[in-house]
Amino acid sequence: MSNEDYDLVVIGGGPGGYEASIRAAQLGMRVACVDKNSMLGGTCLRVGCIPSKALLESSELAHQAQHGLKIHGIETGKIKIDLQALLARKEKIVGTLGQGVAHLLKKNGVDSFQGLGRIVAPGQVEVTSGTASDTEESAAQTLRCRRILIATGSSSAPLKGVDLDAERIGTSTEALAYDKVPKELIVIGAGAIGLELGSVWSRLGSKVTVLEYMDIVLPGMDPDISREAHKLFKRQGITFKLKCRVTKAVQKRAKCVVSCDGEEDLTADRVLLAVGRRPHTSGLGLDELGVDLDKRGFVVVGKNFETKVAGIYAIGDCTPGPMLAHKASEEGIACVEAMKSGYGHVNYDAIPNVVYTHPEVASVGKTQAELEKSGIPVKIGKFSFRANGRALALAQIDGFVKILAQAETDRILGVHIIGARAGDLIAEAVTAIEFGASSEDLARTCHAHPTLPEIIKEAALDVHGQAIH
Ligand code: FAD
Ligand code: NAD
Repeated sequence: MSNEDYDLVVIGGGPGGYEASIRAAQLGMRVACVDKNSMLGGTCLRVGCIPSKALLESSELAHQAQHGLKIHGIETGKIKIDLQALLARKEKIVGTLGQGVAHLLKKNGVDSFQGLGRIVAPGQVEVTSGTASDTEESAAQTLRCRRILIATGSSSAPLKGVDLDAERIGTSTEALAYDKVPKELIVIGAGAIGLELGSVWSRLGSKVTVLEYMDIVLPGMDPDISREAHKLFKRQGITFKLKCRVTKAVQKRAKCVVSCDGEEDLTADRVLLAVGRRPHTSGLGLDELGVDLDKRGFVVVGKNFETKVAGIYAIGDCTPGPMLAHKASEEGIACVEAMKSGYGHVNYDAIPNVVYTHPEVASVGKTQAELEKSGIPVKIGKFSFRANGRALALAQIDGFVKILAQAETDRILGVHIIGARAGDLIAEAVTAIEFGASSEDLARTCHAHPTLPEIIKEAALDVHGQAIH
């Protein structure tokens, strides 16, 4: 099916690329989506959001069964964890959703191509199937199109001195599939991946040590939230070494040895490297085309996500901004809508960020530190989970909601939550910010009783010193 004409060829079938493909097809474009992997859905579905959340859920249930039920008067005794069954459940969820994405593309009339995409010229994407043997040339075909959207995502960032061998020293991809619970696990990096996957294996029985370069966990989050997170995760038995710059990790016989500046070497059965991700742009032919990359390798885009080369666009993890699945999707949809109507918009102040630990951590908008740095006067409202009836009924009393409102206009500029189901609770705050609500708007909105969202209402009331409880 070579030399076919498309309005749009999307390279990358992750949440950015596949959602953009579907929206473009809905808008009447003839679309092809190219992905080198046989399963669509990208990092998010195959080795990211979905498998990690499946493991987080299973391991949290195991933890609750052992440690969380006594308070309710329920005795369980010793429980047995079938790791293979737990991993198989995760794979089944991934498989089901993968088939779902393929079905959605087909249903919307998007042509899927499996193979490596490379832009040979504006309007021409070469797809190499990669199925040919070493002695044959790989089967290649060229898709001709009006526009090209790069949605090639990201991959784990390496760290100098850390000898990734995939056997004992690996990335999140390996940590989603350890076939045995490691006795000791060292996690390098206290970001989202380090804390989520560190929590999974800690709950399943590993002794987890997290090494973090900064003096705080989850750097970038509101410092009050980071401090609380550190305290709570420590209480769960995870060891943290902060201000610890890892310089080396190697395998020695059946152990891994990790070196940090100014610390004695540490040993463990496995090491998880989680120091960020880097954009995936190699092999796309971008240099030859003159598409600009910034100094960290992200594709530079201008108005409506178009690169310097007319007709070539980019969105998602391979472009600057938070590396989040929903950011990629929002951009993909805005990008193709702009192709059709000239207008597509993403509100970067209303992109939530959730870390699915227990308790969860969620935020949207600006942090207190960011607002102070910009000299914006703020009023702060705070309310604790422990003063909420539903939180007590759930026996989930740790954490708080913090609301930051512009001191003069009362407009909500940031909401930060640590506590049970924070990832669900943040949706109300995102809607509030999207609609330009004031803290008074939230405070005067009727919330069902007894529910966790009442904590948000009370925090909003607290902005003006009017909390009831
Ligand atoms: P990707 O999902 O990376 O998709 C890019 C696709 O492009 C891939 O399928 C790849 O095969 C394909 N591709 C690349 N180059 C080529 C080429 N030359 N030709 C053909 N195909 C190509 N984000 C959240 O929002 N919530 C979470 O809970 C969350 N959890 C995560 C957990 C882990 C362990 C990890 C690693 C990430 C997590 N993320 C999470 C981040 C999220 O996965 C990414 O932000 C998201 O997948 C980015 O989407 P994307 O479409 O830009 O790229
Ligand atoms: P991250 O950037 O969130 O955290 C990396 C951490 O590693 C930082 O705290 C950094 O200070 C630390 N670090 C860097 N170099 C170090 C060194 N030499 N020694 C010790 N510590 C060092 O990156 P991540 O956790 O790998 O996640 C990658 C991306 O995936 C993030 O952008 C994140 O948004 C996304 N993600 C999101 C979710 C979610 O939304 N729930 C979950 C997982 C991943």
